[in-house]
Amino acid sequence: MVFDSLVDGLRSSIQKILRSTGGEKIDEALMDIRTSLLQSDVDVKIVDEFISKVKEDLKANKGKGMVTREKAIDVIYNNLVKLVGSGEEKISIISVPYKILLVGLFGSGKTTTAAKLANYFKKRGYSVLLLGLDTSRPAAYEQLLQLGKSINTKVLGGEKSSLDSIRKYENEFKNFDIIIADSAGRDALDEQLINEIKSVHSVFKPNDTILVIPADLGQNAALQVSAFHKALGINHIILTKTDGTANGGGALTASYISGAKVVFIGTGEKINAFEEFDPKRFVSQLLGLDNLQELLEKAQEENIKVNEESVKKIVKGEFSLLDMYDQYANAKKMGPLDKVASMIPGLPSSGRTKELMEKQGENIGKFINVMDSMTKEELENPKIIDSKRISRIARGSGQDEAIVRELLSQYNKTKQVMKMSKNRQVSDLLRRFGINLGG
Ligand code: GDP
Ligand code: MG
Repeated sequence: MVFDSLVDGLRSSIQKILRSTGGEKIDEALMDIRTSLLQSDVDVKIVDEFISKVKEDLKANKGKGMVTREKAIDVIYNNLVKLVGSGEEKISIISVPYKILLVGLFGSGKTTTAAKLANYFKKRGYSVLLLGLDTSRPAAYEQLLQLGKSINTKVLGGEKSSLDSIRKYENEFKNFDIIIADSAGRDALDEQLINEIKSVHSVFKPNDTILVIPADLGQNAALQVSAFHKALGINHIILTKTDGTANGGGALTASYISGAKVVFIGTGEKINAFEEFDPKRFVSQLLGLDNLQELLEKAQEENIKVNEESVKKIVKGEFSLLDMYDQYANAKKMGPLDKVASMIPGLPSSGRTKELMEKQGENIGKFINVMDSMTKEELENPKIIDSKRISRIARGSGQDEAIVRELLSQYNKTKQVMKMSKNRQVSDLLRRFGINLGG
């Protein structure tokens, strides 16, 4: 499938964000997204514009609180949708006869698409005329005739020149709702082609000029699209061969450069291998967001398996040395303090308490010794630990008094950090995880 590598890259970036508790992986994930877009042949200028727009939107969200995983994914999703089109874009037959001109290079799928499009409108009750303007090869008109026959649609054209064909059959146009003109393609984008297509455009006077581009256009896309767009003004894009294995990024580039939206995609050689393009659905599929809610729930379960009571106490800055004890006892895993810290905006990362503890690495065993020598009362209410108690605890645990003081200072520091973060955002956040702090 086209966009496969893009899909892989984007999905693993999304997974990265989902696996992170706070925003710490978002920048990393964005860099991965940038790489996948570039590898999929999306133009570098467009990629960088996209990334900075995402960053800007994330920043705007930060101002209001913090960037959650959901928000980050939401911002990425919305910007990708904007990148491929805004949705709701349709070809509307606002007047009849409605004249559509298909343009594009040789082999892009114009003739096939002309028939697919004719079939699409016929099914919706419109009368359609196919106009063959490709006089470059005798077989071209024959191909259109065959296709027209297969969908029971009238085909005219095939005169010596495209202008002859238009002039000769112009009078017929009024008998149809929609005229779809299949223009000549060349295998290179040259002046001759541009001049010819320009004169066809000015004589045919289409209501809608549609650029047909194959998904495998690659890096050349930008050049081609600008040339067609400059010469004619492109209203819509039809992306063909999305069933292929190409990177597809060139096609995304096309839409961005011309400002024209992709309205249909070709998904195979057969007439009905043709779909309306839905940017939202397309991007959801790209990102693998169909089961986003499920993924988020799973990520939450993994991250927040802490005792609700101790979370409440920690966030309120009311935790005791018993909670510290738990934290140290779980030092190798992510302790409850880390888990809570990682959810708190304003803390640089979940590493804050970890960092404090790593510095204390070898002290942890000693801290546990010290706490083992404390009374239950002291553990629950460390405030009562004065210098007399410090001496007693030190003696009892066989540790220096300095270690006891270090533990107490560690406890106070952590408590301070947690207290600083005791604000509305935290309670809002915790509520999202089903923990209600109450008053
Ligand atoms: P034109 O030169 O622009 O008129 O291109 P054609 O319509 O003749 O198509 C060129 C080739 O691409 C033909 O073999 C078509 O069958 C094939 N083709 C067109 N659209 C699609 C598509 O969506 N998927 C696939 N797999 N092949 C397509
Ligand atoms: Mg053709």
